[in-house]
Amino acid sequence: MSLDAKIPEGILETKWTDYKSHVKLVNPANKRKLEIIVIGTGLAGASAAAALGELGYKVKAFCFQDSPRRAHSIAAQGGINAAKNYQNDGDSVFRLFYDTVKGGDYRAREANVYRLAEVSAAIIDQCVAQGVPFAREYGGLLSNRSFGGTQVQRTFYAAGQTGQQLLLGAYSALERQVALGNVDMYSRHEMLDVVKIDGKARGIIARNLVTGTLERHFGHAVLICSGGYGNVFYLSTNAMGSNVTAAWKSHKRGAYFGNPCFTQIHPTCIPVSGDHQSKLTLMSESLRNDGRIWVPKAKGDNRKATDIPEAERDYYLERRYPAFGNLVPRDVASRAAKERCDEGYGVGTTKMAVYLDFADAIKRYGKIELGKQGIATADEATIIKLGEGVVKEKYGNLFEMYEKITGEDPYKVPMRIYPAVHYTMGGLWVDYNLMTTVPGLYALGEANFSDHGANRLGASALMQGLADGYFVLPYTLGDYLADEIRTAAIPVTHEAFEQTEKEVRARIETLMNIKGTESVESFHKRLGKIMWDKCGMARNEEGLKQAIVEIRALKEEFWKNVRVPGDINEFNPELDKAGRVADFIELGELMCMDALNRKESCGGHFREEMQTEEGEAKRDDDSFSYVAAWEYKDSGFEMHKEKLKFDIVKPSQRSYK
Ligand SMILES: Cc1cc2nc3c(=O)[nH]c(=O)nc-3n(C[C@H](O)[C@H](O)[C@H](O)COP(=O)(O)OP(=O)(O)OC[C@H]3O[C@@H](n4cnc5c(N)ncnc54)[C@H](O)[C@@H]3O)c2cc1C
Repeated sequence: MSLDAKIPEGILETKWTDYKSHVKLVNPANKRKLEIIVIGTGLAGASAAAALGELGYKVKAFCFQDSPRRAHSIAAQGGINAAKNYQNDGDSVFRLFYDTVKGGDYRAREANVYRLAEVSAAIIDQCVAQGVPFAREYGGLLSNRSFGGTQVQRTFYAAGQTGQQLLLGAYSALERQVALGNVDMYSRHEMLDVVKIDGKARGIIARNLVTGTLERHFGHAVLICSGGYGNVFYLSTNAMGSNVTAAWKSHKRGAYFGNPCFTQIHPTCIPVSGDHQSKLTLMSESLRNDGRIWVPKAKGDNRKATDIPEAERDYYLERRYPAFGNLVPRDVASRAAKERCDEGYGVGTTKMAVYLDFADAIKRYGKIELGKQGIATADEATIIKLGEGVVKEKYGNLFEMYEKITGEDPYKVPMRIYPAVHYTMGGLWVDYNLMTTVPGLYALGEANFSDHGANRLGASALMQGLADGYFVLPYTLGDYLADEIRTAAIPVTHEAFEQTEKEVRARIETLMNIKGTESVESFHKRLGKIMWDKCGMARNEEGLKQAIVEIRALKEEFWKNVRVPGDINEFNPELDKAGRVADFIELGELMCMDALNRKESCGGHFREEMQTEEGEAKRDDDSFSYVAAWEYKDSGFEMHKEKLKFDIVKPSQRSYK
């Protein structure tokens, strides 16, 4: 099948406006007859379900948690980008578009990214109207801060809980539609397969996670908003339940998987402390607005951070990247931290950490407070006390979280941080309409291969999820459904539902009947280690080839020796996890194949063989300026290419110096 991204003709700046003016519409009476299934109620799914319910479609929304409010989106801390230029510091739609294409190392589609930048401002207006309590300046205007890869302040935030507040907004909008009867909500339900009839997505098989019952649901269209797959690495900053199953089942039913190897490693996470951990914790990128990152200048320096004088510290990001300093993009900051630690400059007991230090910021803010409060002179202790108050107001909950986990007070000693898996830029391949290669099957939010190319800029995921759900899909879906108004609801007794349910049931029974000796968790952990060691922050040909062999062997062992306790027809989280880990194992193989194929370094994908003399990622635009879209076949995975064309932003060596 040839890949058609369906990018509208015309100049970049007017493509989306023209599209909206000419797209096919569905009249209100017909909307009431059309049924839509939404998998996921994070920011992407909740916003889509709410918007489609409001438009009058009949919507069924599913999530595996006990409440839509528990979607992983609630964990997002730092903020959401929008080109509002409230700071009057030179921001614009074009600049947000440009920063995003460049930040993604020229591996994203220009037309999609421009549309994202264009709708960004409307997202903020919508959320403010819903009552999302964004931080405000003294005068009442919304406040902004900086995130990596930009030189303007365009990030809107609600302390360190932006995702939570945005999700409460989307959830309220969703619940309103539930109350109006436009949306039926199915919590604690897990989609386990897509039902296709005559090549189109026509429904799903879902499992009621409380009773174990398999259910059939019809839809004229199915939207996959199931989030990212960072947990394939076992240790990540993602919520424990985040998984790839919905996307992977869609892939196995014909949806191509785009750039699966593009993973984001976030530079500021609490370092791994031992073998006992099953989760890593993010320290928001917003902290890099004020925190300075450093290591000792001397290798193996074991002094306490506070005992190391200024002259003996290496603020390596400020040294290497003077133009962006501590606010270089995540891929660049992560690699620089790894480089310092690998060279022996790391700190802490494991020596796999660097410092994130707020001492300067505390003093700076303290002095500003003196001025504000009209105090002419003050001793150092007073300045620090005042400064700590300001830092607390900005980042208090993050500092508290750090202290609870590490037992150290980050107001007094620098935080120790190290990169960790955080986000996946890869996902289901979609065209400009957000439709996958299966007609009627859409993907939104982190579940699609998205607008972020090979590296997502901070605070752009929330923007993309809400753009997809509130502003893009409600138009593009109508274009497809306008031709479906004559399709009556298909009874779930149809043989396609029958057959798909049979296959789902058989797989569950196989899992239960293995009765092996090794836990699901143990297989997951082993997979994660292979992935992190060989397909993590740095990758090379030999390692990737080994990883593929090891993952295939792991898969075989899993299906012979996994132990799933309990029964099918009951609440059984071990069984749920077993299905998800089985899918992660298959995905892991594809990620390594994709990484092996891409013999260039770009964004978060760092092939050790391909680096500049200064250790920066070296792209190969002539050979790899494409989206790798993988097709699942019983005989193996087959790659298709969507060539990327850059009419406006000319790819160049990314520089933050
Ligand atoms: C710690 C952390 C902090 C972050 N901070 C920021 C930030 O400050 N700014 C920013 O822009 N981005 C941030 N991100 C990234 C951002 O949070 C995510 O990319 C985004 O929230 C994903 O939203 P989503 O709606 O696509 O998916 P999710 O929020 O992950 O929701 C997925 C939904 O799908 C459902 N689901 C999944 N599989 C199934 C299935 N098989 N059946 C039924 N339901 C299913 C789940 O129940 C859930 O409702 C952060 C990420 C992390 C890990």
